[in-house]
Amino acid sequence: MILTITMNPSVDISYPLNKLAINDINRVSEVKKTAGGKGLNVTRGIKYSGIPVLASGIIGGTTGEYIQKQLDKDNINYDFYITQHESRNCIAILHEGNQTEILESGPVLDNYDVNVFLEHYQNLLSQAQVITISGSLPQGFPVGFYTQLIEKANKYQIPVLLDSSGKMLLETLVSKNKPFLIKPNKDELQHIIQMDIDPNDVASLVKAVNHPLLNDIAFIIISLGKNGAFARCHHNYYQVSIPKINVVNPVGSGDVTLAGLAVSIYENEPIEVMLKRAMTMGMLNAMESQTGFVDMRNYNEYYQQVRVTQI
Ligand code: ADP
Repeated sequence: MILTITMNPSVDISYPLNKLAINDINRVSEVKKTAGGKGLNVTRGIKYSGIPVLASGIIGGTTGEYIQKQLDKDNINYDFYITQHESRNCIAILHEGNQTEILESGPVLDNYDVNVFLEHYQNLLSQAQVITISGSLPQGFPVGFYTQLIEKANKYQIPVLLDSSGKMLLETLVSKNKPFLIKPNKDELQHIIQMDIDPNDVASLVKAVNHPLLNDIAFIIISLGKNGAFARCHHNYYQVSIPKINVVNPVGSGDVTLAGLAVSIYENEPIEVMLKRAMTMGMLNAMESQTGFVDMRNYNEYYQQVRVTQI
């Protein structure tokens, strides 16, 4: 199966309001609560694709219990390390065409939790053929923690797909324990390599994926929103273009794109199929209002319209 790691999951709460009244009472009738966190979007994307998946990470408290109940509802298998500390809530207030977010940073954990989780993770490795790691770390975890997860997976030759950013991504790039695949978006990669990327200029994209920091990464997929993606697989380059779609809510598109990549690697599909699958998943998510949801009934129609060109 595919093992997905979400180290700081949340209950995502959305409050739709006609108008946000500041310094006053706002009453909400249509509250939506879902199990959130980038890795849980990846998990759902894999589940929709019909591939066995196990979600892991750290949860705790009544918020953690709520996350488990939501995953039960979706028939998703999970095996979290349960702490004494309460998992976080993330609130999105949708008002007047705006989205105002209040994001809790989550529990503050310590070395004890680091070690217990590493043991928990080690015990799951024998079941995993592919691993995805997404998002940020809980407070109190060392910034290089993902390199420890990658090192353990690499020992068993289990490919790790990493979708993280900033220092957490950088730490893995400078470590000897490299992920098999990374999927930064344009902004995330620009930040890491300290270079502007022009999504419409192939030379600029080639230069970016050839940055010395990325030398030993087998697969680099730069996702480019409505411009599709650009990928390097070993020494081959691929430009991926996608059709114009009716975008409703693109949040979570990168996560289900990673789900598509993980499914393809699990299924041993050729690179062209992999890139088409990943882009199709991203587009299907962007067409829905619910974050991290895809309607697989539309899959074939959009898959046919993705173009992969090797350059
Ligand atoms: P992230 O969510 O990580 O920032 P992107 O915004 O690049 O990642 O989105 C990932 C993929 O989702 C894109 O490569 C594309 O396939 C699809 N996608 C996202 N936004 C759009 C959009 N506005 N129009 C069409 N497809 C989109």
